[in-house]
Amino acid sequence: MNDLHRRNPCRLPVLLMIAVSTVIGLSVLWEFKLEGWVMHWLALPYDADFEDAERWRFVLTSTGFSLISLIVPTILLRRLIANAQSSFRRLKQAQAQTETLATYDSLSGLVNRRIFMNMVRNQLGLRRPAAVMLIDLDHFKAVNDQHGHAAGDLVLFEIARRLESIADDNGGVAVRLGGDEFCLLFLNFKHQTELCQIAEAVVVQLSAPLSSAVEPSALGATIGISRSWTDAQEASALLHCADTAMYRGKKSGRSTFNFYDSEYERQRRAQADLELSLKRAVEEDEIVPYFQPIVALPSQEVVGFEVLARWLKPDGSTSTPAEFIPVLERLGLIPVMTRSLIRQACRAANRWDDRLRLSMNVSATMVTDVLFPDQLLNQLREEHFAFHRFEVEITEEALVGNLDAAQRNLSKLHDHGITVALDDFGIGYSSLYHLTRLSIDKIKIDRSFFEPGQTDHLPMVEAILGMARSLKMQVTAEGVEEFHLPHLPSWLANSGCNYAQGYLYGRPKPASSLFCYTHSSFVQQAC
Ligand code: C2E
Ligand code: CA
Ligand code: CA
Repeated sequence: MNDLHRRNPCRLPVLLMIAVSTVIGLSVLWEFKLEGWVMHWLALPYDADFEDAERWRFVLTSTGFSLISLIVPTILLRRLIANAQSSFRRLKQAQAQTETLATYDSLSGLVNRRIFMNMVRNQLGLRRPAAVMLIDLDHFKAVNDQHGHAAGDLVLFEIARRLESIADDNGGVAVRLGGDEFCLLFLNFKHQTELCQIAEAVVVQLSAPLSSAVEPSALGATIGISRSWTDAQEASALLHCADTAMYRGKKSGRSTFNFYDSEYERQRRAQADLELSLKRAVEEDEIVPYFQPIVALPSQEVVGFEVLARWLKPDGSTSTPAEFIPVLERLGLIPVMTRSLIRQACRAANRWDDRLRLSMNVSATMVTDVLFPDQLLNQLREEHFAFHRFEVEITEEALVGNLDAAQRNLSKLHDHGITVALDDFGIGYSSLYHLTRLSIDKIKIDRSFFEPGQTDHLPMVEAILGMARSLKMQVTAEGVEEFHLPHLPSWLANSGCNYAQGYLYGRPKPASSLFCYTHSSFVQQAC
């Protein structure tokens, strides 16, 4: 096409010259020779006595007109052809450009997402194998933030060249999916060990220093790998599997690679569902207080209840704290749940005998929160619940993180008449330092001391009781059960233990079921 265009301007004048010479030649030939012969041959009358001048005038006139009628359309036609040619050329260029844009990513020059998806779709449509290695750069955002997008583009270009070379070495295609997300596509079966080697090469090469002088001077990559023969037979599902595997790597420390694992994905989905349900549960008061009686010794009369959280699920089942408290901790929802439980528990307890007390478990983050004492005191005021009827149970783990804050908060509560109990005593730090430095009013001896066959623990219980007596603290024994009868309750009472709690006196129950307890007339009265 270009050659033709280049030759055209030279050829045209020559052609014109030939045309002009031919016309003139033919006219001369006709006028001076052929005319007489033809007329003679046709047996027509012919006057051959024309002056030469007359003949030349005819030749020039007819040639002139012939040339004009030849040149003008030729020039017009030539312009028309030139215009058509240039439009055609422009169209071709635009078409080529569109094809490049539609196939390749303009920044990196790698195959783009659309073509990648088509390639995978075609391959899987033909029931042939495909493996996707999704690569997400680590710390790329820092490059853009610190050096601007132009520097970021240079880095992406450099990374693309490294991936291209790995793809070439291993019979794959390098793809830029968008942003700092790349992919290597293999359209053949690759053994797991081979994929591992390629992924390792990617991690190593993408962690190597960048020639574009930027900070951080080296990035890193987190990789997720999926395979059509084990994970998914549909293009977007295969990419999603690689994405899930990559996400797992991001969570577990980056610069690593993972294969898609359906069991991990199932657990992750279940966890996400649980988190969503728990958020709703807290908002809609599905988490309710159950009440477990605490009895005074030796009378064994109920003097109060420990509030224990239960999740009443919409499907009618009940979930215990071990299943949801750690998740709520992670979601930062423990304060909201505790507030809701306090409100519900106080409203129930306000209908009981006003000597009955409530004991509430308070988590580590709340105990050390500077706002906690005032928020609790205000809530108890709002609920018209006397401070001296309220007790907070804390564990030693809650104290070690920020002992000073815990000390300030607990002494403020203690000063307002709220009892502070140290829960699960004997299994954690069991530190004398904690007991003496903090405003602790009560110790709850962990139930593991009273487990069946643990009679050798009883001397330790005696020691704790002796220590508490010296420090003027009260003691509750947790986990007193039916099988401890008849000895443990009387032994505890004789050893100076003030309170007992456990299945012997009642299991945790909702407020509406408290009449079920038979061990104490106090409970009957309360209901
Ligand atoms: P905890 O504070 O030590 O609560 C006592 C646990 O022992 C309760 O389990 C109770 O049902 C169980 N228990 C009571 N008596 C007996 C007995 O005689 N034998 C046996 N085997 N177990 C007995 P639960 O309700 O599952 O609570 C477990 C833990 O969850 C609690 O231990 C507490 O640390 C935490 N928890 C419960 N409710 C809340 C809450 O509202 N807030 C916070 N932060 N933690 C809570
Ligand atoms: Ca407790
Ligand atoms: Ca306990």
